[in-house]
Amino acid sequence: MYQCSLERMKEKLETFARFGDTGNGGITRYSLSEEAIMARNEFIKRMEAIGAVIEKDDMANVYATISGSDPHAKRIVMGSHADSVMNGGNYDGILGVISAMEVLETVVTEAIPHKHPLTAMIWTNEEGALYPPAMMSSGVVCYKFLPENIKANFEYEDMMNSKNVLDGKTTFEEALMRSGFRGRIENRLSRENAKCMFETHIEQGPILEAAGKNIGIVKCVLGMFNYRIRFYGQTSHAGTFPMNKRKDALYAAAEAICYIHEEIDKLGIAELVYTTGEIVCHPNIHTCVPDLVDISIDVRHEDTEALKRVEKVVMGLEKLSFAGCKCKTELQWKRDTVYWDKELVGYVEESAKEAGANYKCIHSGAGHDAQFVSYMIPTTMIFVKSKEGLSHCEKEYSEPEDCTMGATIMLNAVLRADKKE
Ligand SMILES: [Zn+2]
Repeated sequence: MYQCSLERMKEKLETFARFGDTGNGGITRYSLSEEAIMARNEFIKRMEAIGAVIEKDDMANVYATISGSDPHAKRIVMGSHADSVMNGGNYDGILGVISAMEVLETVVTEAIPHKHPLTAMIWTNEEGALYPPAMMSSGVVCYKFLPENIKANFEYEDMMNSKNVLDGKTTFEEALMRSGFRGRIENRLSRENAKCMFETHIEQGPILEAAGKNIGIVKCVLGMFNYRIRFYGQTSHAGTFPMNKRKDALYAAAEAICYIHEEIDKLGIAELVYTTGEIVCHPNIHTCVPDLVDISIDVRHEDTEALKRVEKVVMGLEKLSFAGCKCKTELQWKRDTVYWDKELVGYVEESAKEAGANYKCIHSGAGHDAQFVSYMIPTTMIFVKSKEGLSHCEKEYSEPEDCTMGATIMLNAVLRADKKE
């Protein structure tokens, strides 16, 4: 088996941490920002230095490809994203890009024979932090293959018109044009040009650490649904209106949240996770009883039947009354568990064993570009342990040794895929 280099990995992690450095141990590197462009240029410079051919597609995804012995063979692709959230860490996304670069560097330096062209790539705007939604360009590139209800969220025109959340004006298309990274639609990743894709990523959760493992062999991305739950009350004056006559939509929402927790917990579904992370309150004035409160609920689990049971509880809210307010529920988004390609998962596991990795099979609770790609071509992921499970923050950390192990596993899994027809 072949090994990636700890020294090279450390050097790349340090170098890329400079692009968007916040000075507090993390980065802010919005997609297509000046900082993101610096990271992209560094990627291109290094990949050209090892003889890779650079291509860009119309969503500014960047591909660096080294040829294999068969010029007609499809590419084996490794990629992730280089953008971050505000005050994010030095690993989310970029680790997958650095690992892909490291695989190509190892293949070139050690002249490892391979048949298929090998591609390292950067996906544009995975976080959607400045231009929503998240996973924008994998959504566009894999559009044809997505389930109908997901497709609706990735219409090309809507993506181009997505507005900068900070200035409320600049569109994603303007940022795309200005970046100088808009390439040709023909260069997009496709079934015609790619055999499969691997994505190495930090775990972003505490499961590997708690289990005393460094590497996760990812089997699936959890199924999920997302509802908006709205409570309709009546605005009245905070000083003049008696308590027993009020229809307080915020109080109703508070009662409903407690009710949801009790009822869902009663179902006793192991490993289920659910979150109310967003509350919109109207008129949101301290002298007014709220008349409208709109909350989110996000529910995730591997088993579709388990999700259905929880969905029943959520939909059942409409029949109940909370603090005298009416309640309406509306489904926003739903997807079944996405299982990675079994053969590729097998290559990853064999490679992890061979490399002597301390690994565990795991599922992903978060979405990644790989998830959309998996509707188009065989895809899988490799997770690297996150310290304390922290992510999307400046404290995000993964040991360089674990990062290098992740890259080594990807390298050997890619070589296994390369041998298979
Ligand atoms: Zn990520």
